[in-house]
Amino acid sequence: MAFSPEERQRYARHFNLPGFGPHSQERLRAGRVMVVGCGGLGSPALYYLAAAGVGLLGLMDSDKVEISNLQRQILHATPDIGRPKVDSAVGRLRALNPHVRLSPHPEHLTADNASELFAPYDLILDATDNFAAKYLINDVCIALKKPFIHASISGFCGQLLAVLPAKSACLRCLFPEPPPLASVEAPPAAGPLGAIPGVIGSLQAVEAIKFLTGIGALLTDTLLTYDGLEAEFRPIHAKRKHACPACGTEAQHHKE
Ligand SMILES: [Zn+2]
Repeated sequence: MAFSPEERQRYARHFNLPGFGPHSQERLRAGRVMVVGCGGLGSPALYYLAAAGVGLLGLMDSDKVEISNLQRQILHATPDIGRPKVDSAVGRLRALNPHVRLSPHPEHLTADNASELFAPYDLILDATDNFAAKYLINDVCIALKKPFIHASISGFCGQLLAVLPAKSACLRCLFPEPPPLASVEAPPAAGPLGAIPGVIGSLQAVEAIKFLTGIGALLTDTLLTYDGLEAEFRPIHAKRKHACPACGTEAQHHKE
């Protein structure tokens, strides 16, 4: 289906971008991305993916907007306090780009619902704020062979990794187990600086656009770390490990 005159204007800067063009825009329109978490990371990631014209965006979050979210979660505004985050997010994204289909899931991600929720999507974005969810996303995506973009933030720092299951290193190849149980459920109480998830969530959107269009080199086998105080990006190179408890050759015991 050809782009309408309105869409050609909307995406004009993509159409005239060398190495991108209408062909890549077509691929974005055919793309389906699930973003788990509509908070600090999910806000910029969803904003840019909706603005870019990704065809279907899944949004998942069981929380309501609180006033303390607004320091960093830029999808939500002061009048949204008390509303479910997915409702607030859908309203904002629909106003931004009515061409994007939005599929809101006001649910908590669990081992029981993850596989079914992820199945319709080409790519999953981990925009969650706790290690339990991050390792669950890792393990479910490995089992489903579903590509995903890991991200996490803390204080003035953040990190990012693209994972192509069975092809590139997963989160457990780098860090086999989450931190001890006491710290896995709750997000860090201190911080983060509000603009840090803005940086990292925007990078997730860039990786997602590269994945959907096939342009550039994905951030696989490299954990990119960002230290906002030092203004420093540092790549940490990683390899798939045969002994990885999730994606290694002897990993069956982790797949239930
Ligand atoms: Zn692995």
